[in-house]
Amino acid sequence: MQQALLFDDLVARPEPLREKKDVQYLPLVAKTILNSCNTCRMPNAVTLNPYRGCEFGCAYCYARYTHEFMELPWEHFERRIFIKNTAPEILLRTLDVKKLRGKHVAIGSATDPYQPAEARFLVTRRLLEIFAQVRGLTITVTTKSALVKRDIDLFRRVAEQNDFRINISLISLNTQLLRALEPKSSTPEARLLALKSLTEAGVRAGILLMPIIPGLTDSDRTLESVVRAAAAHGAGYVHGRVLFLRDSAKKSFYEFLKRSAPDLYARYSRIYGRRAYTCDEYQREILSKVKKLKDKYNLNNGDAEVEPYEMVDQTGNLFENRCDAIEL
Ligand code: SF4
Repeated sequence: MQQALLFDDLVARPEPLREKKDVQYLPLVAKTILNSCNTCRMPNAVTLNPYRGCEFGCAYCYARYTHEFMELPWEHFERRIFIKNTAPEILLRTLDVKKLRGKHVAIGSATDPYQPAEARFLVTRRLLEIFAQVRGLTITVTTKSALVKRDIDLFRRVAEQNDFRINISLISLNTQLLRALEPKSSTPEARLLALKSLTEAGVRAGILLMPIIPGLTDSDRTLESVVRAAAAHGAGYVHGRVLFLRDSAKKSFYEFLKRSAPDLYARYSRIYGRRAYTCDEYQREILSKVKKLKDKYNLNNGDAEVEPYEMVDQTGNLFENRCDAIEL
């Protein structure tokens, strides 16, 4: 009840722009649209999120904290989707291309820019229309949605004068598992076909094998099946990373484990405990497997290898991240 009151105060009871079963689309007047980010996960990045919340509702989604900022319960992350309808005007007004050169503009770091809302509200498309008019930027779009195919012509225009790529996020080919883990995302087949359409149209695209989930998607067979499928559908690259779980994501992910994989639940509490990451040894082992698979399928394109999460903090200091309980 307290949370509902705080929410009402904060956004002054906005009228939904649209409603459907279990989901409300609400307006959000953003003050800024480009956010600087310099974590070890995304060094030197500027993030841009056309929506707040994400209807795909992945159990492991780290971005659930964005709803907690609004005093909303984590369950509302996939049910109350905030639409930044004025984002294109703000971008047009504030875009400083010179300042952005040398940085990485990441579209969709805390929401999926091609989630169902995009089919109606077109915020992502309108933002990309602006990027099609500038040059010299490094821009990525990350998505789990086959809707991304809609904008292939626009991507080609953006890519004419910018270093542009589409990351398709895919962690397994097991449709049943993905339905439970990522309830409303596109099927693995649809994502792979989108990848194929993109690359055949000359748009640089690859697979983000993230997050690799201990005990669920980290088997040699699963990893190889995804990398093999990526290669077969024209991926230019594959990047893998192990699951990290900040507090807001732990709540939903542990609910998922209790429901769908109760035998893993106790082990996860041991592995992650109060930390957000698994130990370095486990991460190194998994990343080394991914690297070997990339070699095998000719997907090593010279991009920097991904380090385990907590190797260095922003000041360059090493974290201690010992391996003490990884038995899955
Ligand atoms: S698609 Fe991405 S932003 Fe959306 S719920 Fe899943 S992990 Fe979160």
